[in-house]
Amino acid sequence: MSAPLSSPAPGRPAIFLDRDGTLNEDVGYLSELSHLTLYPWAIDAVRLFNRAGYAVVVITNQGGIGRGMIRPEFVPELHAVIAERLARAGARVDGWYHCPHHPAALVEPLKGDCRCRKPEPGMLLDAIADLGLDPTRSWMIGDKWHDVRVGQRVGARGILVRTGWGRLEEETRPAGQEVFAICDTLADAAAVVLNADRSVG
Ligand SMILES: [Mg+2]
Ligand SMILES: [Zn+2]
Repeated sequence: MSAPLSSPAPGRPAIFLDRDGTLNEDVGYLSELSHLTLYPWAIDAVRLFNRAGYAVVVITNQGGIGRGMIRPEFVPELHAVIAERLARAGARVDGWYHCPHHPAALVEPLKGDCRCRKPEPGMLLDAIADLGLDPTRSWMIGDKWHDVRVGQRVGARGILVRTGWGRLEEETRPAGQEVFAICDTLADAAAVVLNADRSVG
């Protein structure tokens, strides 16, 4: 839903990151700045991905907008605040994408099925086109199986983190659901990614 912040570089690998439960604590519908708590390792993990040459792209379902629980303007405001905190520590997100739709939305244009609500891959496809990404060299990291799955749908590898809903999700793994790794935190996931890609060369 938002414009990319950096110029496209064809074929660049990316880290697609879920937001709530992955970068910051999942508080249900995050609708106030004072409810934002970034995990203590979040900024370092993003900076590791930056330095390793990945585009970092946040991919977040914000159906609370459609349900009338989150002001539409709040999401870009919040992302600007997170971006500023990252920037102070030399870290950067290259693109922010959120889906405002919800199957039970109150606001008619936001109601029903859309192409972007995870596990639909619309946000990733937009980011791939906007930023010139190579999905097959990319990763999707999140605390729900729909995060892992949406990454796999575009050809990326998926990692589940045990923060947020992750521990519960781990206990209710759908039959046949594959995953590259299940990690305690985004910091651990960063180590897995960097090791895996280094060994590939
Ligand atoms: Mg999440
Ligand atoms: Zn959507």
